[in-house]
Amino acid sequence: MDCLFCRIIESEIPSKRVFEDETAVAFLDINPWQCGHTLVIPRRHVADALSDPTALTEIAPALRQVGTLLQDKLGASGFNLLSNVGADSGQEVFHLHVHVIPRYADNPGIAHMRGEITDDLETIHRRITG
Ligand code: AMP
Ligand code: ZN
Repeated sequence: MDCLFCRIIESEIPSKRVFEDETAVAFLDINPWQCGHTLVIPRRHVADALSDPTALTEIAPALRQVGTLLQDKLGASGFNLLSNVGADSGQEVFHLHVHVIPRYADNPGIAHMRGEITDDLETIHRRITG
């Protein structure tokens, strides 16, 4: 099976990791909707959030850790957590991932979930991991 996110886990494809534990890896989305937009994925291959009974639970601690990191390092004051299931929902990578989209007080509300990004990924990664 040739899975992009399995290859990211194996570091065969580079990514900007911000967090990892025994069950999950978190890295910056390459096409962010907000500054610090992060994907949290299980280390084991699971197609989507509804195809496995425990995968979402397994990555819940990592989701919380990433949320805390984005609050502490970037000043996020809210989050949209989003996991697309199936091609018709817009899912493009068929390895379960939860989008952790940090939100900021100066641009609130779900209508503005897709915002403007001014910083490049390198700069954002340094701010989170530095
Ligand atoms: P989805 O549409 O929910 O399947 O989301 C897939 C996400 O993966 C999109 O937001 C992409 O920007 C992101 N993505 C695709 N390739 C990479 C990559 N190599 N590194 C980081 N994020 C990626
Ligand atoms: Zn995979």
